[in-house]
Amino acid sequence: MNTREMDRLFIEWTAENSGYDEHRNYIGLSTIADCPREIYRRYFDSTPASVSSRLKTRASYEIEENLKNRFRKMGVYGEGIEISLYNGLVKGHTDGEIWGRLLDIKTVPLTEHLPRDNNLPSKVFWQIQAYMFFGGWEDSVVLYFARDFGVHKFFYVRYHESMGKKIETKLTGILRDIEPATPSQCECGRCR
Ligand SMILES: [Zn+2]
Repeated sequence: MNTREMDRLFIEWTAENSGYDEHRNYIGLSTIADCPREIYRRYFDSTPASVSSRLKTRASYEIEENLKNRFRKMGVYGEGIEISLYNGLVKGHTDGEIWGRLLDIKTVPLTEHLPRDNNLPSKVFWQIQAYMFFGGWEDSVVLYFARDFGVHKFFYVRYHESMGKKIETKLTGILRDIEPATPSQCECGRCR
């Protein structure tokens, strides 16, 4: 077998087993910060992901899995769960727990991409708040990991009741539009 053939088989298998979340038939809590119209559009969109985004997804899952293994070896890890709501129309997949707190893992290519101070991207903040609201956690830890030098940063996030309410209201609104297929209100001003 030549390397070209190896290439083909390796890529083919990876693309089929990438774990890429097509977001078909449900609203993912990981992107709940997005514009309602965008979430609505994605729910009905069935365009398959490109091979390159599948390769990237597979690689980040592998890194995340390695980090979970490290916590497992430390004896502080609890397995992740699937949060399924509104008859499965809304779903979230947690990365697990460490020291009894909800864990979410984000990997970035370079050390300089680690968020500074306590400035978590709002997309991540919304996601974590959604998991805590629906999963009943009071506090959580977001682990950022830089792939270049293996350095990391922990962010402690407490549950905010007002965020939980906001997320629930947003979801209820989008779900109300999905049933009769009426596009949700655009809040970002960029949707067509
Ligand atoms: Zn919009």
